[in-house]
Order: sequence, then C-alpha cells, then structure tokens
Amino acid sequence: MEISENIKKYKEELGENVTLVAISKTKPNSDLLEAYEAGQRVFGENKIQEMTEKWEALPKDIQWHMVGHVQRNKVKYMAPFVSLIHAVDSLKLLKEIDKEAKKNERVISCLLQIKIAEEESKFGLDAEEAKEILASEEFSALKNIKVKGLMGMATFSDDEAKVKGEFDYLKSVYEDFKKDHPNFEVLSMGMSGDYKLALTCGSNMVRIGSAIFGERNYN
Ligand SMILES: *Cc1c(COP(=O)(O)O)cnc(C)c1O
Repeated sequence: MEISENIKKYKEELGENVTLVAISKTKPNSDLLEAYEAGQRVFGENKIQEMTEKWEALPKDIQWHMVGHVQRNKVKYMAPFVSLIHAVDSLKLLKEIDKEAKKNERVISCLLQIKIAEEESKFGLDAEEAKEILASEEFSALKNIKVKGLMGMATFSDDEAKVKGEFDYLKSVYEDFKKDHPNFEVLSMGMSGDYKLALTCGSNMVRIGSAIFGERNYN
C-alpha cells in the first residue's frame, strides 16, 4: 500500500484522541513528504543527526519527536527545534535538555521512559526511580523542560498476554503519577506490531514506522 493511504488509514483508525507519530528513521525525505502531503505532521526519529538533517530539508510545520536513546552531548543539535523527547531516562539528561532549551529560549517537552520489557537491551527507568526524579528539588529547579508523561516499549514477542501485562503495568504507573502530576497527558506506547493492544490498554500516542513506510533497510 502507498504511504499516503497508510497515513489516511491510521488517522481514521486512531481518531482524534490518539496521536500518530510516524516513525521515519532510515527513510528518505521523499517518503516523509508523501506522508506530509497526506496530512501527517508528527514524525519520529531515533538518531539526532538524521533528524536534524531532515528538519533542515523539510517543511517547518513538522513536529519532530526524538524516540531513540539520547546521548547528552548531542542534545544541543536538536534543542532548537525538537518538539517531544520520548526516552528520557535520567536526571542528568533532563538537566542537559533544560540547559540547551534555555539557550534557545524554549521549553522542551519530554517523556520519561519506563522499562517494562524484560529484555536487557531496552533502556528506561524503574517506576520508583522516575518517581524520585519527579519529586527531587533538582528537578523542580528545571524551568525549561516540561515532563508531559511516560513512554514504554514492550517485549518484542508474540505472547499477547505478556505484552498486555507490560502495557497494563505502564498504564497503572501513568495513572499513579497523574495523581501528583495532573499535567501529565501523554502515554506513548505501541508500535507497528502491538499498537492495537496498546490502545486497548490506554495508550494515547502510538509510534508506527514499518507499517506506514515499509520494512527498514539498514544497509
Ligand atoms: C523504530 C521505533 C518504532 C517503530 O517501530 P515499527 O515496528 O517500525 O513500527 C517505535 N518506537 C521506537 C522507540 C523505535 O525506535
């Protein structure tokens, strides 16, 4: 199916209350433009350099989401334009984002990544660690970031019960955090293979790549 048809299909399926982040990593600008012309404005990338090059080349009303693991020394390159950073996993990183946001006279929105999968390779905080960060004085002093919610990646598995258990857990952590942080409004969970399940578990932001743009070729 064509990229533009995929965008229309997902937009219709997701409705107004769920944000579609089109994950365009490794894909050429022409593919992103096709999605753009079908009405897509939110794109996600996992490498800062690639995102920056695309930002420079493409229409300026695109909202760029960084969904990958972030190295602190590269925050400065995306600070002028990034719209949401999904995978924040330390206070140190929040401080760096705050510093670079201030230089750019911006407030940058972030999500904390909670580790919900069992795979060692996946990054993220424990719910307890995230809670401590949000409760710390150092965090309250950061005026140029805004933590808007949580993000998680489930285990890559066909075992639906397992994946559902992980999404349910993240939703419960999110609801718990909302009691102290009523400004929380984003729960980013679900990818091409598991977004339907994520939606039934309460996700309001899905990150869909290969189901829109086709399989990625890393060569
Ligand atoms: C690549 C990626 C996605 C999209 O994966 P698909 O399976 O292609 O939909 C979503 N989230 C993150 C963090 C990613 O790195």
